Amino acid sequence: MPEESRFLILLGPPMSGKGTQAARLSQLFGIPQVSSGDLFRDNIKNQTNLGLEAKKYIDRGDLVPDEVTIGMVKERLHREDCLGGALLDGFPRTIPQAEALDDILAGVGVSLSAVISVAVPEDVLVERASGRRICRNCGQSYHLKFDPPKESGICDEDGGELYQREDDKPETVRNRFAVYQAQTSPLIEFYRARGILHEVNGDQLIDEVADDILQVVNAL
Ligand code: AMP
Repeated sequence: MPEESRFLILLGPPMSGKGTQAARLSQLFGIPQVSSGDLFRDNIKNQTNLGLEAKKYIDRGDLVPDEVTIGMVKERLHREDCLGGALLDGFPRTIPQAEALDDILAGVGVSLSAVISVAVPEDVLVERASGRRICRNCGQSYHLKFDPPKESGICDEDGGELYQREDDKPETVRNRFAVYQAQTSPLIEFYRARGILHEVNGDQLIDEVADDILQVVNAL
């Protein structure tokens, strides 16, 4: 990947697999995955003020207000390990966040190289939601049917306990989809108009989606 092409966004609805793909690409390219959802979950686990504030919104499946989210991601992107690039997963989720991201990147003299939109039909997303499980220690994600751990309920990586995210329960998932449609999906046109949007079919095996994303990135 060329030097100037290292800031990538993975865009997609809840359960589209963008986090899984971001983690793979991050390993492959040696650039950090910056997941706003993970940053919030870390803050909640550590009971920071930001975490306590964010939890109210996350538990309902609503978006955390832009100013809180933007401040948190900005601080993360300004850390040394992001100098060479980052894979953004779950951010931006609103037009004001996308505009703020432009400013953050311009401030360090870089720009976005590509936005990869991972498309998955809604009925598939609902099925995925019910089976997702997360490691309490490291945040690694599994799916009971599509990507199960070797031993039931236990993380392959570090033996941590697997749990279902509160916001993966059916009522909250429905709200998260509605919020995605209303607030996040306009970003698809926003980035298409800029000529940096690439669409990938997310309704395939994890390896197949990864191959398609790699093709996009390698062609940049
Ligand atoms: P995720 O792990 O990306 O599915 O995010 C989990 C939850 O964190 C979302 O449902 C939101 O409540 C919150 N969240 C994550 N990223 C953002 C964002 N960019 N803007 C606002 N809220 C966010």
